[in-house]
Amino acid sequence: MTSSEIRQHFLDFFRQKDHLIVPSAPLVAKNDPTLMFNNSGMAQFKDFFLGNGTPPARRVADTQKCLRVSGKHNDLEDVGFDTYHHTMFEMLGNWSFGDYFKKEAISWAWELLTEVYKLPKDRLYVSVFQGDEKDGVPFDQEAWDLWKPIVGENRIILGNKKDNFWEMGDTGPCGPCSEIHVDLRPQAEVDQKPGKELVNADHPQVVEIWNLVFMQFNRKADGSLEPLPARHVDTGMGFERLCMAIQSKLSNYDTDVFTNTIRVIEELSGITYTGSQREYPDVAMRVIADHIRAVSFAIADGLIPSNARAGYVIRRILRRAVRYGYSYLGFTEPFLTKLVPTLALQFADVFPELNAQRDFVATVIREEEAAFLRTLENGLKLLDKITAELTEKSQKTIDGETVFELNDTFGFPVDLTALIARENGFSIDEAGFQKALQAQKARSRKDASSSTGDWTELHDIDGVEFLGYDQTQAEARIAKYRKVQNKQGTQYQIVLDRTPFYAESGGQIGDTGSLELQVGDEKVLIRIADTKKENDLIIHISNDKDLETVLDNHSAVLAKVDADRRTAISDNHSATHLLHAALRDVLGTHVAQKGSYVGPDALRFDFSHFAKVTDDELTEVERIVNQKIRENIPLDEKRNVPIEEAKKLGAMALFGEKYGDFVRVITFDPSYSVELCGGTHVPATGQIGLFKFTSEGSVSTGVRRIEAVTAEKALALLNEQQATLDQLKELLKAPKDVVKAVQALLDERSQLQKKIDALEAEKLQQVKADLLTKVHASNGHYVIVERVDVPSADALKQLAYDLKAKLDNLAVVLGSDIGGKPQLAVMLPDELIKDKNLHAGNLVKELAKEIRGGGGGQPFFATAGGSDATGLDRALAKGRELLK
Ligand code: ATP
Ligand code: MG
Repeated sequence: MTSSEIRQHFLDFFRQKDHLIVPSAPLVAKNDPTLMFNNSGMAQFKDFFLGNGTPPARRVADTQKCLRVSGKHNDLEDVGFDTYHHTMFEMLGNWSFGDYFKKEAISWAWELLTEVYKLPKDRLYVSVFQGDEKDGVPFDQEAWDLWKPIVGENRIILGNKKDNFWEMGDTGPCGPCSEIHVDLRPQAEVDQKPGKELVNADHPQVVEIWNLVFMQFNRKADGSLEPLPARHVDTGMGFERLCMAIQSKLSNYDTDVFTNTIRVIEELSGITYTGSQREYPDVAMRVIADHIRAVSFAIADGLIPSNARAGYVIRRILRRAVRYGYSYLGFTEPFLTKLVPTLALQFADVFPELNAQRDFVATVIREEEAAFLRTLENGLKLLDKITAELTEKSQKTIDGETVFELNDTFGFPVDLTALIARENGFSIDEAGFQKALQAQKARSRKDASSSTGDWTELHDIDGVEFLGYDQTQAEARIAKYRKVQNKQGTQYQIVLDRTPFYAESGGQIGDTGSLELQVGDEKVLIRIADTKKENDLIIHISNDKDLETVLDNHSAVLAKVDADRRTAISDNHSATHLLHAALRDVLGTHVAQKGSYVGPDALRFDFSHFAKVTDDELTEVERIVNQKIRENIPLDEKRNVPIEEAKKLGAMALFGEKYGDFVRVITFDPSYSVELCGGTHVPATGQIGLFKFTSEGSVSTGVRRIEAVTAEKALALLNEQQATLDQLKELLKAPKDVVKAVQALLDERSQLQKKIDALEAEKLQQVKADLLTKVHASNGHYVIVERVDVPSADALKQLAYDLKAKLDNLAVVLGSDIGGKPQLAVMLPDELIKDKNLHAGNLVKELAKEIRGGGGGQPFFATAGGSDATGLDRALAKGRELLK
């Protein structure tokens, strides 16, 4: 069975059991402050478990792209060294939202594995939660009773809280689980030792493939558990491990999920993959075959490698792969980029987003690789220097701070530093490095530390009704609130049953405004500083103090959005759509949105394009956008359009965005701009008034950024520029043509400069001639010590050199007052330097004391500057004395 068939059978099986098959959410988690990447199938359904939203169906199944490289689930260090943990993997899952429970979940899992996939029953083991007294959770008798008749008592293993109690985070839904493990060892080994003894013992061929989680509880911030309103099933099966089991392989990397990629790595490196567990070229190939998936799919889902947050995680994974290739496979040029086409093709049917952006992803990866390969070389040079210094001092250990610096500034992985050190007969101070690393971690933890209190529930809601497309004011009730402590201080987060406040998303900034409450005869205002989304909740954030009493006792509010600010935001959002369409017109349809910011003051639009946008192109884009504004195209807003229909309308969907089955379509002229968008917009484009660019630049490889302003801000920008021009005209005495006038000034200036230069050169000649008449002999050498009038320190230096060229065996001390700043120059002949041990640098320092200054230079020539011009003559007198 091929991996594609295996995936398909899974989806078909659950479709037949009345499950709705849904697409994978993007790798990068959205609207979830507790999660950077989706790390399990259930992440995108979190809200349904919490009762905050309604699922599209009560039975759902899918395959979800997961990434486990940060936070609670981090498998990075195992990847490549073992054969069954990946950074990115697919998790096949089926869900029941308050529908079926343990009985169906267990019997269907068994049916699928043994009847559809035909896995041998005597190689499967299951685990059941043994209970935990401290948490007050009992033994999972129900699961035990269900499994017993299916697998028999001796194939059931009791598991503790670590293995058999699933929690999605520090807080939130959780419950006991039953895992299914498979024993893939050769029969001879099985005969020697029963598989049961190897379950959960990190054996590479006795692995967990499926986890059936039975959600029954909600973990609260204080650590206590409360039963969930409805019980749910959440299962997750590792697709790559399942393929290993069905295809009778000993490693995930031997399945057809990975063999294509490994073959390309073999071709590029000329090294054959042998599948060995510990040999380095093999480990490196596995790391690379794994990491390229994580990096490619993350970029396809909209992430760009960077120095912050999720972007940095991707950058680190990419660098890890590059260094494995460099150290063990001899890749000194970008090579990861060459793996992208194979991957894109292989997943074109399941995850088409990669194939659709293949060239873009390959380019981003190539540039990242090239950049890191350059620092890799710089880092190596630095290491050379460090080891040379250590050798001089007869030391053998590179200290921890240095190792940390290599890691921090050069992105140099510690193990690479250790390896290179070892090759050169050195070791690294691992403990010192860890100390420096921990210190940094502690610093960043302190920065990010925040604590979130439990919700205080005032009214039960099914979900939040968003009214903001139609109104900016509405009466509502407070559903719940909580207190959050973070760097900015204490915040209140308030959820209403219905709200006109737009929560930050899709690049559009959150609304501000107020909640008005009637307290007795008095009106109380709660100021709302921002609005954010958390999964499907709309959270109003207030920085006001001590709101508990008000919030606990009054739930009816009048929610008022700052309407002027919202209008300015809508102007910018609609302008962004017009801009997007114009860019595709002018630059080509490869232009895809890579990020945007829509605020009240300005808009920012990032998009894929491989060259600078020329001035002509910008002018044309701006012209089109303004034309569309003048056409006053009315907004055509369609809500709840089935996604397929929206795509037929030609709506531009963004990669890396999660869309439901029903979407909102924003159209400004069906032949011009059709986008899937949840933002707020103008009723007709004329409201935008005016659109002006403020900048164009590059964000990263292949991504350009345009910034622009609209409406009043655009007018203000033009007025500012007009005012500057008016001032210029006034200064230039109102010429007919300002540009011509400025050009004339510049021409005149350069003419004058030429004249000045010529005059000064002439004058310098004169000064030189005068000086030569003042030479006198002293003790076998010539001396000139004089005060001169020259325009610059450079001229003074030039003069000294010219004199030296004229006369052998000449000592010169020149002083000059250049615009109030005294300068000295000393030139000595070789004879004085050798015979009398004189040094121009020392001499000038001595003289500079008189002008309250300092200086220095070489033995034969030195200069000094000072702050007291009245001391010049004293300095020269001293010079005369010293050169006697
Ligand atoms: P393990 O103990 O093997 O790390 P887990 O307990 O972390 O697994 P779950 O969180 O229960 O796994 O995830 C459900 C399933 O996803 C697992 O049964 C396994 O098949 C698969 N899985 C988990 N982590 C990985 C990974 N890093 N790479 C590939 N598959 C994985
Ligand atoms: Mg794990």
